[in-house]
Amino acid sequence: HLPLDGQCDPANIAMALAKGARQRGATIIENVKVTKVHTRNGRVSGVSWAQGEDQGTIETDIIVNCAGMWARELGRQNGVTIPLHACEHFYLVTEPIPGLSRLPVLRVPDECAYYKEDAGKMMLGAFEPVAKPWGMDGIREDFCFDQLPEDMDHFEPILEMGVNRMPMLGTAGIHTFFNGPESFTPDDRYYLGEAPELSGYWMATGYNSIGIVSSGGAGMALAQWINDGEAPFDLWEVDIRRAQPFQKNRRYLKERVSETLGLLYADHFPYRQMATSRGVRRSPLHEHLKARGAVFGEVAGWERANWFAREGQEREYRYSWKRQNWFENQREEHLAVRNGVGLFDMTSFGKIRVEGRDACAFLQRLCANDMDVAPGRIVYTQMLNAKGGIESDLTVTRLSETAYFLVVPGATLQRDLAWLRKHVAEEFVVITDVTAAEAVICVMGPEARKLIQKVSPNDFSNEVNPFGTFQEIEIGMGLARAHRVTYVGELGWELY
Ligand SMILES: Cc1cc2nc3c(=O)[nH]c(=O)nc-3n(C[C@H](O)[C@H](O)[C@H](O)COP(=O)(O)OP(=O)(O)OC[C@H]3O[C@@H](n4cnc5c(N)ncnc54)[C@H](O)[C@@H]3O)c2cc1C
Repeated sequence: HLPLDGQCDPANIAMALAKGARQRGATIIENVKVTKVHTRNGRVSGVSWAQGEDQGTIETDIIVNCAGMWARELGRQNGVTIPLHACEHFYLVTEPIPGLSRLPVLRVPDECAYYKEDAGKMMLGAFEPVAKPWGMDGIREDFCFDQLPEDMDHFEPILEMGVNRMPMLGTAGIHTFFNGPESFTPDDRYYLGEAPELSGYWMATGYNSIGIVSSGGAGMALAQWINDGEAPFDLWEVDIRRAQPFQKNRRYLKERVSETLGLLYADHFPYRQMATSRGVRRSPLHEHLKARGAVFGEVAGWERANWFAREGQEREYRYSWKRQNWFENQREEHLAVRNGVGLFDMTSFGKIRVEGRDACAFLQRLCANDMDVAPGRIVYTQMLNAKGGIESDLTVTRLSETAYFLVVPGATLQRDLAWLRKHVAEEFVVITDVTAAEAVICVMGPEARKLIQKVSPNDFSNEVNPFGTFQEIEIGMGLARAHRVTYVGELGWELY
């Protein structure tokens, strides 16, 4: 147990927060359904509500979707991505146990269980490894924190371990067997922030069973974020802009949340990979890499070759807090790139085209480096906020007078797109996500030139293709763009 752990009553917390808000001038109206969020000129302009027969519209340019497990559907009405899905969450409460006094909260992660003493009764709750998703066909309009049917078979393994851990559970009668739904997200972290799709559409949702404990801090952070226009501290872990639009897919979500509920208590091993909902986005090279022993990891839905197994070696991660089972494989790969040449697939990069009459002026305003370079040049730069903090780290290639090609990490693509779109003022620019349009193969290491010259008739000398430039090249019977950049400290090209 954690000595500074607290225990609280969720209803009283809600009442206390509401009281505090009222004291600061907030008006709280209960039992009102939001029926529609209105928009004007690409931003929120109001909400329509219904309460029995009554209905109306409130004009506002800011709303916060905090509709719990209903949030995904509410967001969908406005094309806002909120990937979450309900799961059943189980606990039981015993009859009063004579002599039971105040006890600290006990968590036994290895047994997926938590124990709380509550008013002389003992409570046992579970975060089991394979959870039960709920509400696949939508959540009933009149469902309001009701109980779901109990499922003793599902809870039994946890209870058995519980009785072993705390024998009094074996003799105390069970007063309540509770099964209630709660929303879970694909990465077990909640969502705060403004929807990238719609200005003024904020959210605080997807709480993965830690909504009570997080409520005060999350509320404070979000309020400051809305008020100041920027997050009060680094909130990237819970930022809605990490969500990928494809993650709204309900089959994906259903499968994934059956895993994420249990992750609340499972070991968070370094390099741990999700086991469910895999294989959603694959590069054109996927099967070639697989045939050569690739062991894949997932980023933003993309399957990426993280390391290559040797002939006959098990193609699995064996998670450890110590040296990883792929240490030697990676050592070889690292040395190959350092001393010879390596080829790696970076198709998962986010790729954005910024085009139009004002593309240069627009990027010049957003990026820290000089963007008004000759076509053919590649510039490494950051997009900064008003305080000089880094919002995005990227390379920008000037394809022509009016077209730029931006390359960002796969995991930050939605955030970067949102930052770009939010900052278009009067400029004439078109911003297009072309991630899926081009594969990227990196050829890097001191021998990179030797290798690339074997497959292409073009000139890759420093004179023709110096660092920070690209050229169109021929490979086989096709065309590619060879970008002379590197992130391995050695000679290199990205081939698009
Ligand atoms: C069995 C169980 C045990 C738990 N134990 C803990 C714990 O020990 N500690 C902890 O921190 N958390 C715990 N949780 C999780 C916690 O209860 C939730 O994370 C938290 O309640 C989520 O709060 P929320 O405000 O995001 O969503 P909710 O509490 O679900 O509230 C969402 C509200 O939005 C309303 N709504 C939906 N659609 C609309 C609409 N169109 N218009 C108007 N209103 C709408 C709903 O009616 C609802 O009142 C537990 C959850 C369960 C089920």
